[in-house]
Amino acid sequence: MEITVVGTGYVGLVTGVCFAEVGYNVTCFDIDEQKISTLSTGICPIYEPGLEEMLKKNLDEGRLHFTSDSKAACTKAEFIFIAVGTPEDEDGSANLDYLEAAVADIGANLTKDAVVVIKSTVPVGTNERIGQMLQDIIPGNIHVKVVSNPEFLREGSGILDTFHADRIVIGTDDLEAGREVAQLFEPFGRPIIQTDIRSAELIKYASNAFLATKISFINEVANLCEYTGANIEDVAKGMGMDERIGSQFLKAGIGYGGSCFPKDTKALEKLTEYYNYDFKILRSVIEVNSRQKQQLFLKAKKMLGSLRGKRVAVLGLAFKPHTDDIREAPAIELITQLIEEQADISVYDPAAVGKVEELFGSRLYYADTVDLAIKGADVVFIMTEWPQITQYDLGRYPLLMREPLIFDGRNCYGLVEAELAGITYISIGRKAIN
Ligand code: NAD
Repeated sequence: MEITVVGTGYVGLVTGVCFAEVGYNVTCFDIDEQKISTLSTGICPIYEPGLEEMLKKNLDEGRLHFTSDSKAACTKAEFIFIAVGTPEDEDGSANLDYLEAAVADIGANLTKDAVVVIKSTVPVGTNERIGQMLQDIIPGNIHVKVVSNPEFLREGSGILDTFHADRIVIGTDDLEAGREVAQLFEPFGRPIIQTDIRSAELIKYASNAFLATKISFINEVANLCEYTGANIEDVAKGMGMDERIGSQFLKAGIGYGGSCFPKDTKALEKLTEYYNYDFKILRSVIEVNSRQKQQLFLKAKKMLGSLRGKRVAVLGLAFKPHTDDIREAPAIELITQLIEEQADISVYDPAAVGKVEELFGSRLYYADTVDLAIKGADVVFIMTEWPQITQYDLGRYPLLMREPLIFDGRNCYGLVEAELAGITYISIGRKAIN
């Protein structure tokens, strides 16, 4: 089976490598020539556990190929998976420019029948429009079917999620094409749900919006804990033990970020506007999250007044652990505010420092270890629950910092430990230790 994957980002690369791993012949195509030449040598340009090893193995075994030539990418392809970015546009809607450019490119280079599978997250109605667009471009003797196959992998566990997906969604109005794509996924042995094309598109947005709702809901409960004196960790545990609720996504914190939840909730909101439907819960979820991202900064300001000239360490930069992705990461918003405050900032992250350096350059000090980041600091903000941070010896904060004042946006430490360590510890939805 000949598969082409268009776009070698977090989704496209993982998809291509995993398809090669189960034995298909895969060509990954990207317009980023630098990325393609790096990938061709077996080096993975993104941090994703296990990906580089699997990439090298499949390159060596001759099943995986990389190209930046769209003609070469299309020649043999029976299935073309499109996994280009659909970022947030200025008005909050999904920007489909990359997708449309990719489709135009494929359309211009197809020389035989193929199934085009859209993995990118796209608003309801887009797949139908792509089908029409392809019909308009390709010659009449070539037949293309369009299938929606939204992706649910999580960055940081992309490979694991691909081989253990809860479900594989295949949406198409062409039964034959749906069967062919389902067959392609058979080696993964995961449950498949086949739907019409519009339902598949909405499953993706509704799923992300629901998970974002759980996060915003527990964050609201956490804020209420601070008023009432309850402890959010106990409250969430007690709620999550109810199987109807479930314990996942009940971790209170400094708000969701990343390349999906923020943009997908906003794109869904835009879609509801288009249909003149007022999706009240969704609007609140977005609003609560942007307020939550401010929580620690506001608490610090309230406690310290100005942060001007203070030595501030930010621990954790990626939007979550085990990834180098900083898109919409709460840490980025915090750093921007700290720069405006004219604080003296050091940062630490096991994977995302390079990307943060591209953004902020010499305005920050980039530490290789937690020790170096917090040395001489007046304040520490914890923004990502990397093991290097959660397992850090609390006793070292008073030893290394000028004043052991910690604002923890991920509730990394127990209150008893914090008290024993003699630190001033402000977390989310729990009483302050000072
Ligand atoms: P990404 O930004 O990491 O990668 C996109 C890639 O597409 C880049 O390498 C870019 O160079 C390439 N590209 C852009 N235009 C192209 C073109 N015309 N032809 C070929 N390549 C092109 O994006 P991502 O995070 O992998 O996300 C891809 C899609 O999957 C998005 O719609 C996203 O919402 C969705 N998604 C992402 C995740 C995730 O965790 N990242 C999870 C589920 C779904």
